[in-house]
Amino acid sequence: MGRLLVVLVLLAVSLYVVKLIKIKLDEPTPKLKKDSSRNESAENNTMVKCLHCGLHIPENEAIKQGDKVFCSLEHAGREI
Ligand SMILES: [Zn+2]
Repeated sequence: MGRLLVVLVLLAVSLYVVKLIKIKLDEPTPKLKKDSSRNESAENNTMVKCLHCGLHIPENEAIKQGDKVFCSLEHAGREI
């Protein structure tokens, strides 16, 4: 009996989660997400390390000099 209850609860929870996901996918609102404040830049979420100071930054915000990556133009300039 207890087992059936657990299965029912799990089923209900999973249905609820699916519903939530569908709602989230449907709404095109630019609401702030937990992790990423920038919606567009969030799609490429690879973190890279600045060669100069070791700071981790999103790849799309990094300054690239060939195969070297920096957090800012200042650091890119210093390293050259
Ligand atoms: Zn840096």
